[in-house]
Amino acid sequence: MKQTTEENSKDEAKTEATLLSFEQSCFNKDWILRFYSQEYIQHFICLICKQVTNNPMEMECPQHEAMDETLIAGENCLKLFLKNHNNSCPIQPHDNCQYSKSNVARRQIGDLTVMCIRQFDQELKTSNETEGEGETPGVIKCEFKGKLKDLNTHLMSECSLNLIHCWFKPFGCNHMCLNQNLKDHLIANMKLHFDLVTQLLQSMKQEIQLKDSLVKQMERDSQQELLKYRADIEMIKKEFNDKEKKILSNHEKIVKSLEEKNSKLIQDYEQLIQTLNHQYDEEKRETNEKEINQSHTLLSSTFAFDLFRSSSNLLKTFTEHTMVN
Ligand SMILES: [Zn+2]
Ligand SMILES: [Zn+2]
Ligand SMILES: [Zn+2]
Ligand SMILES: [Zn+2]
Repeated sequence: MKQTTEENSKDEAKTEATLLSFEQSCFNKDWILRFYSQEYIQHFICLICKQVTNNPMEMECPQHEAMDETLIAGENCLKLFLKNHNNSCPIQPHDNCQYSKSNVARRQIGDLTVMCIRQFDQELKTSNETEGEGETPGVIKCEFKGKLKDLNTHLMSECSLNLIHCWFKPFGCNHMCLNQNLKDHLIANMKLHFDLVTQLLQSMKQEIQLKDSLVKQMERDSQQELLKYRADIEMIKKEFNDKEKKILSNHEKIVKSLEEKNSKLIQDYEQLIQTLNHQYDEEKRETNEKEINQSHTLLSSTFAFDLFRSSSNLLKTFTEHTMVN
């Protein structure tokens, strides 16, 4: 079972490598030669890998100006070469290698007519296997014939040799095959697929159990935390009450002492008033006595005048009464 899985991932790696290499490295010369002569494509050959150039770069070092042939290299080949040869030129060893994109070659190569690369690979494979016994019946063929620049779109969409993933990919089967071969794969690998599903279910079950115990632990932790907070709150309440009581008793003491001071002040004040009143009475009595003595001497001289004044008042009142009547 393990072996089959390994084979599957190898298959997939191979498929991905094919797609990747198609986008990056230069094109198989034999594939292009299906429709062209050697002579026709000689100006499109990568000077590094000797295949048909993919993303051509033109070499422009002044050292090779005298050379007659076209000096182009695939972008990927050139990058790899410079990296592995300490930036030395691939034509002759020298520094400061100069190059730029060759748009003309790019257009010409893109316009080359090609067959489907998958069909080409399939034909190569079957011709190796059957040693030229003719076409194997029931094998799917891709009849694509078009411009090289349109091939990528073809491979990603309409190509009948497009590989599809096994239905059990979400469970870990990485097998890829032609649509027509999928049924065979599913029948041949029922046990493998069943085991993959069981494994996944098992691991999901374990994960659920783990999560469950985590949740329970978190619940316990939060419960403890809650109890701790409650105890803290109780303590704070108690401290607050104690402080409040202390402040209240202090307040009462202050009020009491103020009241005591106040009543003492009132007492002192009353005493003072009494003393003052007493003094005042004393002084008044003394003054009265003095006045009485003085008035006795005055009385005899003013008596005659007072008598006269009161009798004239009497007269006046009498006359007024008579006039009103
Ligand atoms: Zn190349
Ligand atoms: Zn050079
Ligand atoms: Zn195709
Ligand atoms: Zn499968």
